[in-house]
Amino acid sequence: MERTTCAVVGGGPAGMVLGLILARAGVEVTVLEKHGDFLRDFRGDTVHTSTLTLIDELGLWPRFERLPYRALTRARVRMDAGEATIGDLSRLDAPHPMVAMTPQWHLLDLLAGAAREEPTFTLRMHTEVTGLVRRDERVTGVRLDDGSELAADLVVACDGRDSRVRADSGLPLHRYDVPIDVEWFRVPRQADDPDGGLGRVGRGRFLVMLDRGDYFQCALIVGKGTDAELRAGPVQGLRDVLLGLNPWWEGRLGALTWDDVKLLEVTLDRLRRWSAPGLLCIGDAAHAMSPVGGVGINLAVQDAVAAATRLAAPLLAGDAEAVDRAGRAVQRRRTVPTVVTQTAQDLAHRRVVAPMLAQGTEETDETLPWPVRVAQRFPALQWVPARAIGIGVLPEHAPDFARRPPLPVVAS
Ligand SMILES: Cc1cc2nc3c(=O)[nH]c(=O)nc-3n(C[C@H](O)[C@H](O)[C@H](O)COP(=O)(O)OP(=O)(O)OC[C@H]3O[C@@H](n4cnc5c(N)ncnc54)[C@H](O)[C@@H]3O)c2cc1C
Repeated sequence: MERTTCAVVGGGPAGMVLGLILARAGVEVTVLEKHGDFLRDFRGDTVHTSTLTLIDELGLWPRFERLPYRALTRARVRMDAGEATIGDLSRLDAPHPMVAMTPQWHLLDLLAGAAREEPTFTLRMHTEVTGLVRRDERVTGVRLDDGSELAADLVVACDGRDSRVRADSGLPLHRYDVPIDVEWFRVPRQADDPDGGLGRVGRGRFLVMLDRGDYFQCALIVGKGTDAELRAGPVQGLRDVLLGLNPWWEGRLGALTWDDVKLLEVTLDRLRRWSAPGLLCIGDAAHAMSPVGGVGINLAVQDAVAAATRLAAPLLAGDAEAVDRAGRAVQRRRTVPTVVTQTAQDLAHRRVVAPMLAQGTEETDETLPWPVRVAQRFPALQWVPARAIGIGVLPEHAPDFARRPPLPVVAS
């Protein structure tokens, strides 16, 4: 049977950051990714301020800055009553005070490229994990879709919100009731359109538009379970909703069909225990995040840094008990940021988004909500949401063993 020291299941943001940092410590690490590439658009686009700081610390900024990204320095929302800035990222005290908007495959390719420079790193694409292998009470490896097994001192589940590993582990899960789903589609963008990220709220709807250059990646929030009813009608119904929100899209929606619109079933949950002997879950596999606030990638990355920092030494020493202790320490360290963020998302679902969806679809001329008005009057307050979105609670930093001076750009 093949063997590695740490088997990382899933090559998303959590898995690739964990793989890279462990490999820089000299740990033999194998990342198993079921897809053949990172080129899928059903992913978030955001690289947060704290992730950009990490990229700096890892010496990867010269490579990152060559990627096609758009700098988002203000989170804006347009309501029927007018447009407002709710978060000003340029106020953050960080080397790159912004959220960089770039299709996630660029970030994952960059991390994979840097990790491949480490001799102890292996990335196996087209490799799906179908279950865990156990001896006595301990996880000792993973089963792969070709029927083979990979033995490991530690398995780390980074396989996202529908984690197979988590399901197989039997670890107890807490689920929140979620009243929303998301319809995900593209709309052509023109050069003089608003750039960066923009929220549009009104008429009982909430639309997020992410600027990807020649198109907007759009997320329309709808009531949970209403997708089938929406799709039962003609797509013109959706086009009318969008034109009601953004009349300036007139003439751009003719090609939009239901086949172009994907449903994201939003879930919000958290493992009560993130680890078991020989196993640790991080990122969405430990706590599936709602897209509200666009912070799931950041949490996944921060989990990975916290995990790699605590796991490297025990994995190098081959000390199974210390590895399990480190797994529990990761949960202790990351519980507060996760609970704070999920509680905020849960409140936003129930107190802001659900009541808004329940309201009529007529245009309203109400004034902006009072917290938004106060933030326009005292712009310094825009630091607070900027900090929550860009950096979050308890940001992590690269451990000394993973830090590098700025690394040269390599041809892809
Ligand atoms: C439509 C959408 C939009 C979003 N927008 C944003 C946003 O703008 N900003 C933001 O911060 N967050 C956003 N999120 C949330 C964010 O994508 C997640 O929180 C984040 O990607 C979690 O990272 P992860 O590495 O834990 O898991 P994932 O990114 O889900 O990565 C999991 C990886 O594991 C692989 N995998 C799964 N099962 C297996 C298996 N059995 N074997 C091998 N490999 C496997 C998958 O192919 C995938 O590559 C969005 C989510 C969705 C669905």
